[in-house]
Amino acid sequence: MKLALFGAEGKVGSALLPVLERAGHEVRAIEIGDEPDVSGLDAAVDFTTPDAAPANARAALEQGVSCVVGTTGWDPQPLHSLAAERGLRLFVAPNFSIGAVLMMRFAKEAATYLPRAEIIELHNEAKKDAPSGTAKATAELIGGDPVIHSVRLPGLVAHQEVIFGAEGQLLTIRHDTTARESFAEGVLLALARLETLPPGLTVGLDALL
Ligand code: NAP
Repeated sequence: MKLALFGAEGKVGSALLPVLERAGHEVRAIEIGDEPDVSGLDAAVDFTTPDAAPANARAALEQGVSCVVGTTGWDPQPLHSLAAERGLRLFVAPNFSIGAVLMMRFAKEAATYLPRAEIIELHNEAKKDAPSGTAKATAELIGGDPVIHSVRLPGLVAHQEVIFGAEGQLLTIRHDTTARESFAEGVLLALARLETLPPGLTVGLDALL
């Protein structure tokens, strides 16, 4: 596919770009200050900031280009109708790592039997939003409004624990992202499946598994 990559010089973008190219995609890197010119491309991928992603996604959709967005901390719902009206896809996932999606799925199942839970999410100190999109999505899935603890420290990549507590027992479900390449597999899957999704907004990698 011919792709635009918004945020190509960022931590995720710079890990993703070579993986996309190795998979046979032709990538136009778009950084802050560049014109968001994506016309004629097959799809746009965005890993930028919560301030930049809404405008990037809107610009791509207005140019007739579907989007895959990994940026967290923004609400994509207002762009649903723009994408749907134009027969385009806006795919947004708070976590593109398949292990993390499984962690959320297992947490949902555990919550059926162990309703008291708290979430600890740990990320690199450069992460701009807190709590993380993955933690918020997990909280919604397991219900009961669990407390979310956010840790921001150097040395971390992206990690999450869901701790379930009951009388005399604890269950911890934990996922660790140790390298940002882990997100690439999910992005490649989303690109491969993009055209099979209904026009408009789809949220979460779970929809593709
Ligand atoms: P990062 O290192 O700060 O990278 C963001 C990049 O976007 C920077 O190079 C930044 O440029 C650039 N940028 C800012 N505004 C832009 C614009 N208008 N157009 C094009 N590029 C722009 O952050 P990161 O760690 O890569 O994370 C990026 C986003 O992805 C965050 O929201 C993070 O939470 C999210 N994330 C999602 C997943 C997932 O699986 N869904 C995984 C990891 C991270 P400057 O540095 O010059 O400002």
